[in-house]
Amino acid sequence: MTRPVALVTGASRGIGKAVALELAKRGHAVGVNYLRNEVQAIETVDAIRELGVEACALRADVSSAPEVADMFRKLEETLGEPSVLVCNAGITRDTLLGASEPEDFDSVLRINLDGVVNCCREASRRMVGRRRGAIVTLSSVGAQRPGRGQSNYAASKGAVESFTRALAVELAPRGIRVNAVAPGLIDTGMTSDLQALAPDELKRRILLRRLGRPAEVARVVAFLCGEDASYVTGQVWNVDGGFKLE
Ligand code: NAP
Repeated sequence: MTRPVALVTGASRGIGKAVALELAKRGHAVGVNYLRNEVQAIETVDAIRELGVEACALRADVSSAPEVADMFRKLEETLGEPSVLVCNAGITRDTLLGASEPEDFDSVLRINLDGVVNCCREASRRMVGRRRGAIVTLSSVGAQRPGRGQSNYAASKGAVESFTRALAVELAPRGIRVNAVAPGLIDTGMTSDLQALAPDELKRRILLRRLGRPAEVARVVAFLCGEDASYVTGQVWNVDGGFKLE
């Protein structure tokens, strides 16, 4: 089996699904991680197989280190060792800090930060031996320009950006590149409430005056995973249509 293998977390829907499809189009066999939406994960797998590419669905909560370790074992048994990892799974729990419960903060950090760390640990152990690999993490415009009620999310994504840079330093001598993509407002389930609440206000804050499409993020992620980005590491790439705060 000579084709490269990629693992995409949170690929049952949204940006992760688009990334899985884009990597498949570029010749990767793809492990499609999901947590709750098995039906949608299988739809992603079927869409990839229709492209004539291998894929498998892998249920795991990325915030659980044992579940992540098990997911990597299953991926290897099914498709082989991954040379590409995209840490996409993430959640929001927007709430003003004073009105929040500790769990609102903890759950966001567990999934958005620990989830990335757990997956990168497993991937780096394998990639280091082969001296080859690319990792892309998903940050957010909220890391640098957070909205109200996003202290938990901004903290998690800011940490992901710092972690990404530090891991790039650690893995560069082994030939492994590590970058982050920071999307702005993208049309997925994550932003559906926001879109319903204030659609015009949202667009006013974007130079291109529209939300992004998952596929527009996916193409940048796939670029960073591939040889065209062979001299890019330790970077955060914004894909936000020109997002501004004022
Ligand atoms: P989404 O539509 O809400 O999808 C989230 C995905 O993450 C789903 O596939 C979900 O799986 C998975 N997931 C959630 N918790 C998980 C866990 N503990 N373990 C494994 N998988 C888990 O989100 P999205 O909008 O595509 O966002 C994807 C990434 O981009 C996130 O990291 C997000 O923070 C970032 N981002 C999004 C936007 C945006 O505007 N949409 C902007 C900036 C950054 P199940 O459905 O199977 O449970």
